[in-house]
Amino acid sequence: MTLRRLGLFGGTFDPPHFGHVAALRAAARTHRFNRIEVTVAGDPYQKSVQGAVRPAPLRLAMAVVAFEGLDLVEVSDREIRRAGPSYTIDTVRELLEEADEVDLIIGADLASQLDRWHEAAALRSLVRVGVVPRPGGQSVMPSGWISYEIAMEPVDLSSTYIRDSHPNRANLRDFVPDGVIPLYEGFRG
Ligand code: ATP
Repeated sequence: MTLRRLGLFGGTFDPPHFGHVAALRAAARTHRFNRIEVTVAGDPYQKSVQGAVRPAPLRLAMAVVAFEGLDLVEVSDREIRRAGPSYTIDTVRELLEEADEVDLIIGADLASQLDRWHEAAALRSLVRVGVVPRPGGQSVMPSGWISYEIAMEPVDLSSTYIRDSHPNRANLRDFVPDGVIPLYEGFRG
């Protein structure tokens, strides 16, 4: 029987941008996965404490248009439908009911934080971690996690930068897929 191998790419996507798109393309190119699920955090507990996050239905809609047509990729609202903080461990447990293997796909900036994620020890025992590069330093995996690098030309872009730099419509085209722009602008106005 063929293994059902799933890649899980979770995020806040406030907004989704070309860095995310590049990461998903790179993950698909590894041929490690039968499917890559993008989960949009309903309540991103590590970020909602830092300040306002745009409403989950808007972030979901932006992710759907940003990632449509990408090989293997499906955008899921499962973390939005689930009440309470969006913990990756809960998503992994759900996905393992349908998949044989689940790999987390994360940007290098998150690697050093993994031990602070909810139920980190359980998560560590259930997943492998595929790390995509992000400008600004080497990723340092905490010990005990099984990980590998996903090759990709780094993309120097973050949602924070897009939110904080208040780009006009023309600049936005450099940062986010076209379909995201009316949704992002509509809310901003
Ligand atoms: P913020 O600036 O609000 O923290 P972000 O740009 O890091 O947001 P998230 O939605 O938090 O975006 O990230 C989802 C996933 O995408 C994370 O694993 C993150 O590391 C990864 N990621 C985000 N931007 C990039 C990028 N430019 N290159 C590679 N991975 C990225």
